[in-house]
Amino acid sequence: MTVVAERWLESFSAALARGDTQAAAQLFEPDGYWRDLVAFTWTLHTAQGRSAISQTFERTLAAAAPTTWTLNGESPARDGYLFAFSTRLGRGIGHLRLREGRAWTLLTALRELKGHEEPAGVRRVHYADPEKQSPVPYVVIVGGGQGGIALGARLKRLGVPTVIVEKNARAGDSWRKRYKTLCLHDPVWYDHLPYLPFPDHWPVFSTKDKIADWLEMYASVMELDYWTSTECLNARPVAAGWEVDVLRNGEPITLRPTHLVLATGMSGFPHRPHPGAMHSSEFSDGAQYRGKKALIVGSSTSAHDIAANLHANGADVTMLQRGPTIVVRSESLMELAWGRLYSEKALAAGITTDLADLTLASVPFRELPALQKPIYDEIARRDADLYAGLTRAGFLHDMGEDGSGLHSIYLRRGAGYYIDVGASQLIIDGRIKLKHGAVSALAENRALLSDGTSFLADLVVFATGYGNMSEWAGKLISPEVAEHVGPVWGLGSNTTNDPGPWQGELRNMWKPTKQPRLWFHGGNLMQSRHYSLYLALQLKARFERVLPTL
Ligand SMILES: Cc1cc2nc3c(=O)[nH]c(=O)nc-3n(C[C@H](O)[C@H](O)[C@H](O)COP(=O)(O)OP(=O)(O)OC[C@H]3O[C@@H](n4cnc5c(N)ncnc54)[C@H](O)[C@@H]3O)c2cc1C
Repeated sequence: MTVVAERWLESFSAALARGDTQAAAQLFEPDGYWRDLVAFTWTLHTAQGRSAISQTFERTLAAAAPTTWTLNGESPARDGYLFAFSTRLGRGIGHLRLREGRAWTLLTALRELKGHEEPAGVRRVHYADPEKQSPVPYVVIVGGGQGGIALGARLKRLGVPTVIVEKNARAGDSWRKRYKTLCLHDPVWYDHLPYLPFPDHWPVFSTKDKIADWLEMYASVMELDYWTSTECLNARPVAAGWEVDVLRNGEPITLRPTHLVLATGMSGFPHRPHPGAMHSSEFSDGAQYRGKKALIVGSSTSAHDIAANLHANGADVTMLQRGPTIVVRSESLMELAWGRLYSEKALAAGITTDLADLTLASVPFRELPALQKPIYDEIARRDADLYAGLTRAGFLHDMGEDGSGLHSIYLRRGAGYYIDVGASQLIIDGRIKLKHGAVSALAENRALLSDGTSFLADLVVFATGYGNMSEWAGKLISPEVAEHVGPVWGLGSNTTNDPGPWQGELRNMWKPTKQPRLWFHGGNLMQSRHYSLYLALQLKARFERVLPTL
């Protein structure tokens, strides 16, 4: 089979070398995909269908001038072929899936810029500079959670002067300050930061405090220019870039970077249907609620975790559910969904974290639901007892509007699921009680519910999620800029909270936005790790003034 891939790559590279974009596109299936991460398009772009593919090549080929296409063989993940190539400006790697000799999916990804490689291995410096000074930043990253930190580390290695401003007192506080019992819901193999993986005794599901401490250690050893207790008050676009007003330990400072990255998190704007009520982001622990009555509004991750925590502390807990939630047992998810790429078994098969990320990135977003659905069908079969129990208890559950499960809903709206680590059994057993509807009014310790009944509670927690990341642009820059940029995140799948049109990529994430020199970065630990590379390369190319005009 490798011979077929070799032939394909030969024909493809020959067509590109001739500038014959039509012939290159004919090597794809009629509805095939080409996803490019910065190598040709200098953005994140998926072209679907031969005509879109040839148009994208027409636009980008002359500047990219790709050469030295080399097949590296079949991927250890056994789902395609890996190859390397170079362009006028950089070196890239890629992933190819063939069906009957034609490309179904092709991924091209830039990995480094020629002449601006990271100073790693043989390029490392001999002596560290003992003088540490905060640079005059070319990039300011607002928000020093895992997103800001991962991007900061990449930019540091690339020599792009960057300051990360974080309003909290310590790196890691965005995890540290969450409720006491929070553990990561993603397994350790999925969670590494760039360059510095967790040690191999690290638990599969880490506590939030371990992650917080790791982030703090990481920011320090990676020598990031990380300003704690520094709040960004506002930012203004100016001719040469940005003016960013920050308050650093109470002292007002104006930074003047060329680029501004908002890494302020998906979980920054609590969605609070009733002003003044407690939001899940403010709940820390249920110890003080022993014997008390609690109402948890919502039925996704935080609602489950908080309900379980309160129950464990002896509270009488009721969950108020409005619509169906995707529930998946953690073990099943690990075994059937994540394990193939992110597990000890995957590692033993030669699937490194980097290769797992590349493989995941090679799957076009359009194809994900169809590929994921059989996994969730299998989970539904395997865990029929769980779902029957939930149904008996009156808990509304599904596998998403099109049955494609958790990964799809996360990309579409970043919410609406619970990875079961025990709370579902509490619901099945009636130890966490259930009601349906919403809170229509709230007064003192009484919640008026949408079914007309009222509920007396000592504690009401709204686990009702968070607003769109574009709200950060509205708050820190201006409502006009936020509107101009449009929503951040989501694919345009035309499902609930993810209106069309179809985008092919996550909206406005890690790529140029309509507002010059404004970028958004974030997502889960895997996304922070993987996509920070492509955002860092886009910024580095601008810093070195080598960005081609397409
Ligand atoms: C219950 C729960 C479970 C989760 N489990 C996982 C998991 O298993 N794996 C995973 O990857 N993710 C998980 N997440 C999601 C997790 O919240 C995000 O992945 C992570 O926080 C995103 O990192 P971030 O850096 O983008 O944003 P954040 O961690 O939110 O960081 C943003 C930072 O910006 C700072 N900031 C905001 N405004 C300003 C300002 N004006 N000036 C200066 N600083 C500012 C904030 O203080 C904050 O530190 C979970 C979330 C919840 C709620």
